[in-house]
Amino acid sequence: MKYKVKLWGVMGSCPGGKKELLEYGSNTSSVTIMNNNTLVIFDCGSGIVGLGHSDIDFTKFKKIVIFITHYHYDHIIGMPFFSLFYNPNLNISIYAPRFQGLNSKDVLSMLFKEPFLPMNINQLKANIEYNNIEDYDTVKVNDLEIDKFRTDHPGINYAYRVKKDNHIFSYITDLEHSKEIDESLIEFVRNSTNIYYDSNFTDEEKYLPRYEGWGHSSHSKGIKLMFDSNSKNIYLGHHGLHRKLKELIEVDEATPENVIIAKEGMEFDL
Ligand SMILES: [Zn+2]
Repeated sequence: MKYKVKLWGVMGSCPGGKKELLEYGSNTSSVTIMNNNTLVIFDCGSGIVGLGHSDIDFTKFKKIVIFITHYHYDHIIGMPFFSLFYNPNLNISIYAPRFQGLNSKDVLSMLFKEPFLPMNINQLKANIEYNNIEDYDTVKVNDLEIDKFRTDHPGINYAYRVKKDNHIFSYITDLEHSKEIDESLIEFVRNSTNIYYDSNFTDEEKYLPRYEGWGHSSHSKGIKLMFDSNSKNIYLGHHGLHRKLKELIEVDEATPENVIIAKEGMEFDL
């Protein structure tokens, strides 16, 4: 059965932070891969809230699986407001990193805690299984194979790659790199049909000393990665809130058709 990829949140940092960029989106990182019986979610930024409130019948999914890249707010802030967690009829598996010796459930439980929320993680109604992503080489979700790649980002972060037959979707967000992109990352995304890529910075900003260590990449590095890895299309996302609307439009217009500035709500085949 065919899978569709959908971008529910393409902004970095903080949801709803900038009216000027509304044309591209207002929600933070969340992407789904879905067909009639499987739902895979990458990251639970505020974009995931819209997914939960969509008119999709979630009880039809045999599997609902969530992969978290890391725990910075823009990748998890939608979690407490994700309606699927409050549905007792759903089975959900979460794969997320360990952090400083803590298991993923222990880290996530910090989010579901007074005084930030009037409840704790054990009060969620869905049947949720928590996994540490480090314990798996490849995670199989029905006929999808999902692999991870550790990127250079403050704390910890994993990029993910989804394979089905010869279709590959690479979710590469939140990564710092030197002037050259790591060969092993090029190998990881090789022959992708579609890449979603962290383009938080413009190329001019990327190597400014003040942004060193922020753990992000740029438009042109994504495009180079696409060419070097023999990949087909790239969606440039994780837009920084300091970005100007005209900068995004300029990149959109200056680049070929297979280089797409990611917009909230975009959908494409796996
Ligand atoms: Zn981020």
